[in-house]
Amino acid sequence: MAGKHISLRHFPTLGCAALYRLFFYGLDWLYPPSCAGCGRSGWRWCPDCQQQLVLLPESICEVCGTPLTARSAKTCRACRTLPPPFHALRSWAAFEGSLRAAIHHLKYRRYFALGETLGTLLARFVSQFDWPVDAVIPVPLGPKRLAQRGYNQAACLALFVAVENAWHYLPQALIRWRETRSQVGLSLEERRANVQGAFLANPHQVEGRCILLVDDVATTGATLAACSQALREAGAHAVYAVTLARTLPGHDVSSDALPVCVDPMPDVSPANRPSCQNNLWRIP
Ligand SMILES: [Zn+2]
Ligand SMILES: [Zn+2]
Repeated sequence: MAGKHISLRHFPTLGCAALYRLFFYGLDWLYPPSCAGCGRSGWRWCPDCQQQLVLLPESICEVCGTPLTARSAKTCRACRTLPPPFHALRSWAAFEGSLRAAIHHLKYRRYFALGETLGTLLARFVSQFDWPVDAVIPVPLGPKRLAQRGYNQAACLALFVAVENAWHYLPQALIRWRETRSQVGLSLEERRANVQGAFLANPHQVEGRCILLVDDVATTGATLAACSQALREAGAHAVYAVTLARTLPGHDVSSDALPVCVDPMPDVSPANRPSCQNNLWRIP
């Protein structure tokens, strides 16, 4: 965080991150952790797993970060045909091996301390791009999914991405106001339809700001595009996105999803959407 400007408005986030760190460092001291990638004792994420990280190819779409097949192209065909509402999406590594195991632990096994470890690594990764970010927002879960899981794994990561880079952290600025099916196993069109219009952003918090969205895994980028769309509609100046991992073509991710109950599609007319006044969401 050296050299970054810290204001009074950062203090709640810094305090929250400091408590989080203190609690889990204390817990690690009492009960030595196991590496989430390989099970090695004494580490949350060990040097071997770090070294075996499967990096993404150098030739990627400059917008959505998808590996490119034609070396001469700068953007993929999908981004040329229908430019996404975010400026750029980048991922730390491929959704394979140890990182895939670690994300499973963070997402489904309540390995909360990993949020600090992997969130700090993600913060260093994103700082290399010099994006003009001033606020960080995690991709939100819907109320039912949040109640089932008890926490949002993207928020565990996003808190440390914000703290390490001295960016504002706005976990309440974006909501998933209707539940969506798990994206696993859906085609690109099905994914887009599943999340379209599912998010709403608070104009009081995002207007005129350059937002960084944080999530654990990106597959087609459909969820991040739907979040970005909501942020842009609420007046965000620009949206960037970063994830820990990216699925590569041919990956089978069906084993990474836990079953969730799916409600029938709710009434999505404007009168039934929540509204945001004075930074408080009002549910009709
Ligand atoms: Zn390991
Ligand atoms: Zn692209």
